[in-house]
Amino acid sequence: MNDKSYDVIMAGGGVMGCATAFYLLRSDPTLKVAIIEMDSTYEKNSTVLSDGNTRLQFNLKENIQISQYGLDKLTTFSEEMAVDGIKARIGFRQEGNLFLSDQDNIKNAQAGLAMQQSLGCNVEWLTPDEISDRFPLYNKESFAGGTFGPLDGTMDSHAVLMGFKNKAIDLGATFIEAEITEFTQSAGQITGVKLSSGEIIKAKYVLNSAGAWATRLAQTVGIELPIDPIMRQVFIVEIAAQPEEIYPLTVFPSGLYLIQEHENRFMISKSMDDDLIGFDFSTNRERFTEFLWEELVGYAPAFDRLKITGAWAGLYAVNTFDGNAILGEWPTLKGFILANGFSGHGFQQCHAVGRYLAELILGNPHKLDLSIFSPQRIFGNKPVFEGHGKLV
Ligand SMILES: Cc1cc2nc3c(=O)[nH]c(=O)nc-3n(C[C@H](O)[C@H](O)[C@H](O)COP(=O)(O)OP(=O)(O)OC[C@H]3O[C@@H](n4cnc5c(N)ncnc54)[C@H](O)[C@@H]3O)c2cc1C
Repeated sequence: MNDKSYDVIMAGGGVMGCATAFYLLRSDPTLKVAIIEMDSTYEKNSTVLSDGNTRLQFNLKENIQISQYGLDKLTTFSEEMAVDGIKARIGFRQEGNLFLSDQDNIKNAQAGLAMQQSLGCNVEWLTPDEISDRFPLYNKESFAGGTFGPLDGTMDSHAVLMGFKNKAIDLGATFIEAEITEFTQSAGQITGVKLSSGEIIKAKYVLNSAGAWATRLAQTVGIELPIDPIMRQVFIVEIAAQPEEIYPLTVFPSGLYLIQEHENRFMISKSMDDDLIGFDFSTNRERFTEFLWEELVGYAPAFDRLKITGAWAGLYAVNTFDGNAILGEWPTLKGFILANGFSGHGFQQCHAVGRYLAELILGNPHKLDLSIFSPQRIFGNKPVFEGHGKLV
């Protein structure tokens, strides 16, 4: 069905667009919902290029609750997204996340831990000795302790996206492969989108789910979002040592992190102040050898002998205002809904955000109130920060 008029258009078919389409149609199967995506191969899509990690370890209550909701949904995700009996197999590996702290960050880390525990999260504090006993690759002189969340873990982000996309289509969503060049509006109300072909598709609601491209699209209706596309590179390395332990995703005190893919193969990355702003996907392995390697060896000496076997680059949609999601209707344009600015932690938020935005559009009560992330806070200059820790 493509009669050029919908109740809701998702402008961008990444995990946010597809999750919201799913939750809308699950609530009301009579809705006419279109997902418009410029590249159905998802070559540059951030969801697909992400690390696919989810964690309970945030400082802000609402971010923790979002992850709790997501973790709960993941237990039944593969069955819930099944289409014609074919399940969405997402390969969720709950190896835990370990956030290491130096002396400067201990207070902040323990405040986060207290908040997580007060909400019932299974997260504990480990001393340097406990950490190096369990994870002998790490140099216990290089940190003052850390928080470990055994339920955190990584999964196949492409499979999660496909799960939501296929199920939304199964429930009645129309998937259109086309580039949106602008949003259309009339008298303070969004009216639809214009495609690069010149075609106009109407809708009462348009969700800006264009990820790192969201700012560019919002400008077409005169809205300036505080969001930059920033390149994040991930390097894949194989070390000479053959660890026997299974390592959690580990964030070192500097913000450098690693994820064990299997055995001696790890993914390494870090946000750096001079990361490129723009739509650049080229990789540069010298960034690892010049800037990250020595730092990594300081935390994990066995990484002194390694080979780089691969690298990729994707885009963060960095919210330069406060680093958190911007969710809900733009105050001066009715029907224009944002799912933007997720920075480095949006993938894991798709379940709660998709549900919240569907409830918002349908005028239903909220299971989880995420109004703290409303775009209204930008107008009121009331940023919502995560605490002093690194928001990766
Ligand atoms: C290297 C890296 C690692 C990350 N690791 C994690 C992690 O471990 N955990 C986590 O929670 N988050 C992580 N993230 C962040 C996460 O990937 C994002 O926050 C999340 O995937 C955003 O989803 P989205 O749907 O908003 O954007 P996207 O997945 O990018 O989807 C947006 C879609 O909109 C489409 N689009 C854009 N403009 C147009 C247009 N004009 N017309 C039509 N379609 C358009 C794009 O093609 C794209 O497919 C990581 C990101 C990167 C880059």
